[in-house]
Amino acid sequence: MIIAGNWKMFRGPDPHALAGLDAIVAPPFTRLRDCVDAGLTTYAQNVHWEADGAYTGEISAPMLLELGVTGSLVGHSERRLYFGETDETVALRTRAALDAGLRVIACVGETLAEREANETEDVLRRQLSVLEPHPHLVLAYEPVWAIGTGLTATPEMAQDAHAFIKSLLDAPVLYGGSVKPDNAAGLLAQPDVDGALVGGASLDVDSFKAICQTAARIRS
Ligand code: PEP
Repeated sequence: MIIAGNWKMFRGPDPHALAGLDAIVAPPFTRLRDCVDAGLTTYAQNVHWEADGAYTGEISAPMLLELGVTGSLVGHSERRLYFGETDETVALRTRAALDAGLRVIACVGETLAEREANETEDVLRRQLSVLEPHPHLVLAYEPVWAIGTGLTATPEMAQDAHAFIKSLLDAPVLYGGSVKPDNAAGLLAQPDVDGALVGGASLDVDSFKAICQTAARIRS
């Protein structure tokens, strides 16, 4: 069971308050070193496919590795929605990061309009078609309509989507979308839900710890 906290563009909690927790944190770039120094398994929120070059605002896998960072998120829906991330750039970032020795959590998921148009499976098939299995690749199913909205997929919806994803690509699949201490147990109990990618609730130490404790209880 993998629990990962995406701090997005928030400063986030004191990393020392999370010391010893069996979880991944993905803070903004300026806090990577603090998290690494606190002994946390630390991921970036994005990674470029070139090792260096004229790519203002980007960061490369070797630079992250030099800091002691373990992995990176790739293709978060906020990157796709606001920063022009495409399936092709997701593939480039994922491949380069894995080749360089980083672990990757690659995010997929449909919008509300796509779900309502019955296109969820088509969207997932398209987003996954550019990715290949790799021992260090984990997927996150994050229905866009459930991210930061307080709406959550039901455990059954998550299970269905995860089973479909696994039928296309052999990798652990985390669920993301308004995971909170009070809904984590139902989601994490599903057989094909291998963990959670937590946004808002990861900014609160007690909430994040409670989700990690729920995961540990279900695993044992
Ligand atoms: C996320 O940022 O990946 C996420 C799932 O956010 P939230 O938990 O706030 O919906």
